[in-house]
Amino acid sequence: FAKLRARLNKGDSWLTRDLSSLFTADKLSPDALEELETRLLMADAGVEATQWLIERLQSELNAGRIKNDKQLRAALKKALLELLEPIAKPLQMPGFIKPFILFVAGVNGVGKTTTIGKLAHYYKKAGKKVLLAAGDTFRAAAVEQLQTWAQRVDVPCLSQGEGADSASVIFDAVQSAKSRDFDLVIADTAGRLHTQSHLMDELRKIKRVVQKHDPYAPHEVLLVVDATTGGNALTQAIQFHEAIGLTGIAITKLDGTAKGGILLAIARRMALPVRFIGIGEGIDDLQPFDAAAYVDALIA
Ligand code: GDP
Repeated sequence: FAKLRARLNKGDSWLTRDLSSLFTADKLSPDALEELETRLLMADAGVEATQWLIERLQSELNAGRIKNDKQLRAALKKALLELLEPIAKPLQMPGFIKPFILFVAGVNGVGKTTTIGKLAHYYKKAGKKVLLAAGDTFRAAAVEQLQTWAQRVDVPCLSQGEGADSASVIFDAVQSAKSRDFDLVIADTAGRLHTQSHLMDELRKIKRVVQKHDPYAPHEVLLVVDATTGGNALTQAIQFHEAIGLTGIAITKLDGTAKGGILLAIARRMALPVRFIGIGEGIDDLQPFDAAAYVDALIA
């Protein structure tokens, strides 16, 4: 938690900075809610989530329950939790689904490869037998980069070289996982193709092909988005969800310049589980998303 707080806030509590200055005597100053609204919007929380939160605060205020900064903090915390708790659903991996097939999607540069490396490490530490499938075959560097991570984490990585058919790489990996008793296949998928529609077609094809192994696969389609891209992260999530049906999101680079409000926007607009958050470049810098810890870190 200490690491989360330090990485998220970077010494700047953007949301709760100088809350006491928003009060005059024991009354919230007239522009206080406007100030909070600005802070939320600047932190990429988006219009819907911001309005929702401000309305919550307004009704607490009308009911006479916000008379000092401590009460304002408590009201903020309550509203933020109400928004984020429903999307804080950890990825469940029941033992009877074997191998569990996890697709990882995301556009180039968001931190997809790094997240796969961290996920492999996380699940290996949890005692799972993990196999990686280098399905981002469009870019030679993507395969190499994934192999480097695989070596670092010490898990096998199946690939077929540059230009190979992504669906075939992933199909073979699942085949191999079945015969070698693996618990989890983490499949990298294309981060870019000639066009957006090619990309989505490819993802749909991979899904179809893997369903020859298991009609219920993939068991998780995790989209990686970069918190520092703000509203773009939300747009990507909506597009991928429409095209291939996501089951979860991982948000990277929350340690960077991003203020992390994007989580609020995603919660309000998509109600899709945020499974993991990335808070650094290191192998251990991936955490399951915990709403209470996140909110405590935000309003710390
Ligand atoms: P990909 O193109 O989506 O596979 O992206 P990469 O995994 O290669 O990551 C792009 C860059 O983002 C690399 O320099 C990573 O080290 C960096 N990165 C990934 N996740 C995080 C994170 O959570 N925090 C920070 N600060 N950097 C990250």
